[in-house]
Amino acid sequence: MNRIHGKRVVVLGGAGFLGSHLCERLLADGASEVISLDNFITGDERNLAGLRMNKRFMSLHHDITEPFSFSGPVDYVFNMASPASPIDCARLPIETLRVGALGTENGLRLAHQKDAVFLQASTSELCGESNPIGPRSCYDEAKRYGEALVAAYRRAHGVRTRIVRIFNTYGPRMRLNDGRAVPAFLGQALRGEDFIIFGDGSQTRSFCYVSDLLDGLVRLAMSEVEEPINLGNPRETTLLQFAEAMRAAMGGQRRISFKPLLGDEPNQRQPDISRARKLLGWEPRVRLEDGLRETLTYFRSVAEHPAPVHPP
Ligand code: NAD
Repeated sequence: MNRIHGKRVVVLGGAGFLGSHLCERLLADGASEVISLDNFITGDERNLAGLRMNKRFMSLHHDITEPFSFSGPVDYVFNMASPASPIDCARLPIETLRVGALGTENGLRLAHQKDAVFLQASTSELCGESNPIGPRSCYDEAKRYGEALVAAYRRAHGVRTRIVRIFNTYGPRMRLNDGRAVPAFLGQALRGEDFIIFGDGSQTRSFCYVSDLLDGLVRLAMSEVEEPINLGNPRETTLLQFAEAMRAAMGGQRRISFKPLLGDEPNQRQPDISRARKLLGWEPRVRLEDGLRETLTYFRSVAEHPAPVHPP
């Protein structure tokens, strides 16, 4: 029996891309109750459609920068709440900083009060250099402060904490309009357009399929590992290979065309997952072709009711 069985779990940001998959995974693993707290600032009710009928699931509309508490025990608190895509962070800079600071602290207080394990979703961005006033700083600095706060609650109050630095993840319910190349390909595929590559297509990306990421998250929560752990797919793929895999997943009907590179590309990092391999026995398993096929199938099925597109 796995260790989630019979446990009561709170997921902050449970209506988002990763949070909603996490809620499903925890219920499938036998959690006695999963409670999502979300203010739907970037999440979507439709992400919870498959959970509505589940009596062990509860969705609460709540902004976690405001205090919250529960009666009864809580065994795990997963903090997945934060605008995450570059476009969302750019349009919600203050909300991003506040949820990273106040929201994280409210989650840590709950974990402290209930003697629960607290897992913080952090980011690969923290592996690079810091610029506190750059255009994407609100996200990086919120995550940096979040990690510091998590470590402080561990030291000062003995809260059992886990930190995961997540690298680019894709799958059903991901946010397509986030300004990055691979989501843009998915959007082009769904609109029936040809794939456009800016540059010669030799630039590399690495994307982890959502079910692999969740497997790592759950393993980390169950472990005793308190240092930050990287989770992502270390297999680098060129943009041309991505476009070809997408074309294969679509049955080969699309053309690929090339345009000159516009300005700077966002930084990409290949994850070093040696510690996740060693300490958690974790390894991404889903092949790119299979993950893309699942993702396209999902987006086609919701195409009649597309999620709202937030303006940049
Ligand atoms: P998402 O935007 O789909 O989900 C975030 C959820 O948090 C949304 O449902 C949103 O409504 C909720 N939220 C935001 N502020 C809130 C508040 N004040 N109160 C309550 N709920 C609030 O993003 P995602 O891709 O699912 O990311 C989840 C977490 O993983 C984030 O912390 C993100 O930084 C981290 N992460 C994700 C990736 C990735 O590739 N998706 C990469 C690195 C880190």
